[in-house]
Amino acid sequence: MNHFVSHLEASIDGTVLPFGQLVNLYNGRPIWVRYDLQRVKAAVAWADIARRPPTLWRYRELLPLPQDQEPVTLGEGFTPLLPGPRLGRQLGLSQLFIKDESQLPTGSFKSRGMTAAISMAKWLGVKRVALPTAGNAGGAAAAYAARAGIECFVFMPHDTPLVNQFEARLYGAKAFRVNGLINDCGQIVRAGVDRMGWFDLSTLKEPYRLEGKKTMGLEIAEQMDGVLPDVIFYPTGGGTGLIGMWKAFQELAALGWLRQPKFPRLIACQPEGCAPIVRAYERGERFAELFPNACTVASGLRVPVAVGDFLMLDAIRASGGQAVVGREDRIAAWMQRASAAEGINICPETAVCLDVLEQLIHRGDVQPDERIVVFNTAAAPKYLEAMPGELPTLDKDRIDWSAIASFH
Ligand SMILES: *Cc1c(COP(=O)(O)O)cnc(C)c1O
Repeated sequence: MNHFVSHLEASIDGTVLPFGQLVNLYNGRPIWVRYDLQRVKAAVAWADIARRPPTLWRYRELLPLPQDQEPVTLGEGFTPLLPGPRLGRQLGLSQLFIKDESQLPTGSFKSRGMTAAISMAKWLGVKRVALPTAGNAGGAAAAYAARAGIECFVFMPHDTPLVNQFEARLYGAKAFRVNGLINDCGQIVRAGVDRMGWFDLSTLKEPYRLEGKKTMGLEIAEQMDGVLPDVIFYPTGGGTGLIGMWKAFQELAALGWLRQPKFPRLIACQPEGCAPIVRAYERGERFAELFPNACTVASGLRVPVAVGDFLMLDAIRASGGQAVVGREDRIAAWMQRASAAEGINICPETAVCLDVLEQLIHRGDVQPDERIVVFNTAAAPKYLEAMPGELPTLDKDRIDWSAIASFH
């Protein structure tokens, strides 16, 4: 056999499903990829992986694409886990790390999911894909589809950041704005499956974007030398990253590849303008209701309803973590403060995490010496709308030195 997948599994009831054909949901809910971990363990060790090229495809045995298939890749993955000493000191933390996903192809971590999903779609003979997007997924899907020679249709809310509109079209996707939110765009995609003959690439509505996003957890384990951090702050929208990392940690534990069998507390961070998972978490519910009138500048988190809600809530609770809202009116200030402190361009979604981090420090839910990882999920320059205005202007013929000297 040229892959290590044992089967697919329905997340809602454990039904075993065959691998090697196109699937979306089962009973309206996501599908897991399961591996034969004994065979993986016999085939490869951490030391082998460490010698491979620094992309997420180094975890080949824990990814679904058969070994004899070339992945559709732009060299994505293995992003740096950067210490944040200055910001850490300001917050009273001694071990703050930022997993900098802003450096990935298309400027967000959506490329992780898309390299896996588009590689699998290509292998399974798909000629045409479609997806709804809050922004970054559309650009990433368009880029990887272009690379695979697959036709791509993208549907996004009418007020999606301009850069996301531009990039989807730049990579040749057939991109549309819709007078609604991402779930309304999802309805169009679902309605077009038969009519247009496309494959639905929506978040968690096919099994492989999750596997790509899972590599964030594998990378953290490798970069922290087999000892996972104490706490992870993750900006949570559809939840693929959160669910994927939790899956990665279970797989690593089952493989015996962790030096300490201790998992991080997962902190799901959502902006107050769109916080369906926080609301369900606080109410003790396993499924989340649609969050009405979703509105936030952290556009990647504008996901009012998620098909993987229960998988997120299960993972958050199992980890001993929590789901917490960040304040909308602090997003711009956190972007500025953290970027200036560390030289890392911090996106609005990550700004939400930083606001939550500060709250948890004040509450005593995070200790000063804990090892903390915050995900920076996209590049801040993609968010022109979040810019605080234009720079002050100088006249080259009459330079105003007092303006320069008193700049603040
Ligand atoms: C999509 C997105 C998220 C949310 O990711 P999920 O794994 O789907 O929850 C967070 N930040 C940015 C920048 C995004 O584009």
